[in-house]
Amino acid sequence: MKHRREANVYWVSDLVKCPIKREFEIKYPEIALSSIYSPYYILGDLIHKGLESVISEKLNARVEVEKSINVQLSNGMEVIVKGRIDSIITTERGENIGIEIKSARADIGIPQQHHIDQVRIYNWLFDLTKSILIYITFNRVTEYEVVEKASTEEVIYRIEDKKAPRYSWECGYCSYAILCPYKIAK
Ligand code: SF4
Repeated sequence: MKHRREANVYWVSDLVKCPIKREFEIKYPEIALSSIYSPYYILGDLIHKGLESVISEKLNARVEVEKSINVQLSNGMEVIVKGRIDSIITTERGENIGIEIKSARADIGIPQQHHIDQVRIYNWLFDLTKSILIYITFNRVTEYEVVEKASTEEVIYRIEDKKAPRYSWECGYCSYAILCPYKIAK
């Protein structure tokens, strides 16, 4: 699901992607929306919904859990960091464990660094003991545990860092590559 855009709100997903892409999404939302109708996106969305419903039923977990935290940037400006994790399970010992589901065409290179970064930030935002990254690909269904937690300093750094793209592979998958002056052509 695409998030409603507000200038002072940074979604966790914004902190693990090219910062220029966020600016384009605010300026030209219709281009971002067009990706929602791609067969691959629809398939991924259905996998998410199916697995979330199983997790919710079998493990009595909360799904689509949302939280926001205010953080102050180095220029004194206050912004909101918002996140929506797929699921949170509370154990009998009272520990909260996050679950984030990822679908991919292939299982090469998993767990991907931006997914690990995303759940590290969820561990910070929701104060989780750890998170489990579940991958559903055509070749493999598997999971990875992520115990590391981002710090507030790292979150602020990611908001302020304007290096584009954030990860070297991003331009090849970006809907805004057709108009972006920062595109790295390979
Ligand atoms: S084309 Fe590359 S640099 Fe431009 S917005 Fe997309 S990911 Fe960022």
